[in-house]
Amino acid sequence: MTNILDAGAVIDGPWPIVGEDQPKEAVERLMHDSLLPESRFQPGFTPTLVNTGSELVLFDTGNGGDGFVPRPHGGWLADMLEPAGYTPDQVDVIVLTHAHPDHIGGLMERGRPLFPNARYAIGAVEYDFWAKDDRLSADKDGNEFRSARLFRTHLVPLADRVRFLKPGDDVTPGIRAVASFGHTPGHLSFHIESEGRRLLLWGDCAHHEVASLAHPEWHAFFDMDKEAGAATRKRVYDMATADRLLVSAYHMSFPSLGYVERKDAGYRWVPVTYQLNL
Ligand SMILES: [Zn+2]
Repeated sequence: MTNILDAGAVIDGPWPIVGEDQPKEAVERLMHDSLLPESRFQPGFTPTLVNTGSELVLFDTGNGGDGFVPRPHGGWLADMLEPAGYTPDQVDVIVLTHAHPDHIGGLMERGRPLFPNARYAIGAVEYDFWAKDDRLSADKDGNEFRSARLFRTHLVPLADRVRFLKPGDDVTPGIRAVASFGHTPGHLSFHIESEGRRLLLWGDCAHHEVASLAHPEWHAFFDMDKEAGAATRKRVYDMATADRLLVSAYHMSFPSLGYVERKDAGYRWVPVTYQLNL
């Protein structure tokens, strides 16, 4: 597998992106205590390529030219495939964890599909949610409207090549969808298994490597269902700790790979060091 960095933007936060229901000071104090800047941060934006030996599978497509982080600070995936050793026409399957702009923005490049030979997979619940006409009546400045608009220009034109997943479905042998609803109504994570070793690709089950893990109960600004998002974080972090899973986590610092351990009343992200080299 190859993780590819799609954006390097520094943005305001993590409050209120994480901890929107908390006083700003609580999040700033946690950052200070963690030796991190208090009010600016650099999220990862990390699509994952998996070469199964018979197929090349890409999880999420980054910001593209029209996503959450505009060029030149985001939308790097298209240019980073080649140095990673691949070309867009080699990608067989694109799996979308959900339909927010930083995940579907890279599907199209100047109005044309970037991956000409790919088929696509997304949660059925997720697709149906964004396909409803009333999504476009959301606040024009909000993430819901931007997602709904991008969904129509970037995913709907590909609909005849899209497979609609439900939790438990296999995308391809060794890759299985896991329910992680809350951030969006049909958000999916994925178990990726090879020769008895398992990786969890959790999409947007965390938006900050310290704050989301330490306080999964804190509300996340971009979660569409706050309580379901919090419950899903706890369940998914429990899964990762119980099974000592390697995790590929879209918004953690690049290369966005690590493990989860319990700490105090919450959890802690442990970035990979040499575990995979042995
Ligand atoms: Zn995201």
